[in-house]
Amino acid sequence: MADETAKAQVAQPGGDTIFGKIIRKEIPAKIIYEDDQSVAFHDVSPQAPTHILVVPKKPIIQLSKAEDSDAALLGHLMIVAKKCAQDAGLTKGYRIVVNDGPDGGQSVYHIHIHVLGGRTMNWPPG
Ligand code: AMP
Repeated sequence: MADETAKAQVAQPGGDTIFGKIIRKEIPAKIIYEDDQSVAFHDVSPQAPTHILVVPKKPIIQLSKAEDSDAALLGHLMIVAKKCAQDAGLTKGYRIVVNDGPDGGQSVYHIHIHVLGGRTMNWPPG
């Protein structure tokens, strides 16, 4: 079992997360974009030559816990993801991933979009 998959099996939803600390600048991260609603930074354990995380400042735990009223924010995150991919020069395409819950491989319970690129992605995913 891959390290991240193992982490996802034992990760617990709830409380503050490492992403909250990054948003509040309590711990360092390679931040590449920030606005009033979101922040984007490089993943500390990249799974592709480019691996960016787009995170809302609102601590939505996971996609399955998002509410109808979060629709505009979630749409905003997708646009930020697109801009980050563009700025990273991912002209040949990229993959967007949102992991949800233990079976989805979620290890940090603050919703985030992975932007992966710089190599050809495989399908189906593992
Ligand atoms: P997920 O498994 O979908 O919840 O994704 C969590 C991601 O957060 C993983 O890809 C981790 O490598 C990444 N991650 C964990 N801690 C940090 C950190 N301090 N800075 C940047 N990325 C992190």
